Amino acid sequence: MTFGIDDLPVRDELRGKSPYGAPQLDVPVRLNTNENPYPLPEPLVERITERVREAARHLNRYPDRDAVELRTALAEYLTKTSGHPVGVDNVWAANGSNEVIQQLLQTFGGPGRTAIGFEPSYSMHGLISRGTGTGWISGPRNEDFTIDLAAAEKAVAEHRPDVVFVTTPNNPTGNAVPPETVLALYEAAQAAGPSMVVVDEAYIEFSHGDSLLRLIEGRPHLVVSRTMSKAFGAAGLRLGYLAAHPAVVDAVQLVRLPYHLSAITQATALAALEHTDTLLGYVERLKAERDRLVAELRALGYEVTESDANFVQFGRFEDAHTVWRKILDRGVLVRDNGVPGWLRVTAGTPAENDAFLDAVREVKKEQS
Ligand code: PMP
Repeated sequence: MTFGIDDLPVRDELRGKSPYGAPQLDVPVRLNTNENPYPLPEPLVERITERVREAARHLNRYPDRDAVELRTALAEYLTKTSGHPVGVDNVWAANGSNEVIQQLLQTFGGPGRTAIGFEPSYSMHGLISRGTGTGWISGPRNEDFTIDLAAAEKAVAEHRPDVVFVTTPNNPTGNAVPPETVLALYEAAQAAGPSMVVVDEAYIEFSHGDSLLRLIEGRPHLVVSRTMSKAFGAAGLRLGYLAAHPAVVDAVQLVRLPYHLSAITQATALAALEHTDTLLGYVERLKAERDRLVAELRALGYEVTESDANFVQFGRFEDAHTVWRKILDRGVLVRDNGVPGWLRVTAGTPAENDAFLDAVREVKKEQS
């Protein structure tokens, strides 16, 4: 027997758990992690190089601990795209929205406290909760993957969680949560708590609807979390951010590691923000491709969950994992999130999506 995790004195709540592990397989078409398929445009690559070269000259010094220039640029982006004034004091940034979520849980969760999410949803909310010693409560959803508001309100009243996660558009299902539902949950959370409501808007740029940023005004317990990994096509950059009342921004600074955001990261993100218009142009292409995937999968006879994201959930399969494997055998990697009967495909380039649709057509033919 080899020495393994179970032989180490790891914390009880981590025992038997699996790490986050979307397969990173070397196949021709990778549509499994909701990445943006478009590489950054060459002028942006040039600008990153310039900004990073300048930052490199000062790497003997620690970076700006408060990332003020970057937070100012993010606030401008949010103001411009939401039409709602967002200031530098409302914005905080970290290494991916995963780190934003971790900092929020370190601040508002922790031992003796709990967080709730409505599942299936982004699995890291539960995993980061456990990692921060926060008890995790799995709230319900309807059969069609919408949030069952009455059941959700009941769960919030009963468990009085310290943090409530709402993912809109939701991952892995793709559907957006109506603003009225988020507001009702916020009210329920205030009556039970008051607790923090974290709206995870990782995919909001792909949505038919608007960001809930406008709801922050007058709601100090509401946090909107965002990322540059999807719409900005910069998953490799690791830059996530939040918008909230300035008190929330002050609070997360109690747990952030000193100089958590490297000077290279800050410089790269600033360069990307200078090219927002071009990058949002790719988002429009991806939305059209997403809509095409929905239409074509439905035409093939599949059930497809309404999508406001850059991915599509389709089914139903008696054995989703076998279908996942057959699609993979044809060189296309999609995602089996473990939602029984369903698979998820990320919208890629038109050619990648064609390859996916061809693979699915073949699998369908084989099965009929
Ligand atoms: N939230 C949701 C809903 C996600 O799907 C993801 C990434 N898959 C993240 C947050 C984390 O993204 P990142 O850390 O790259 O910002």
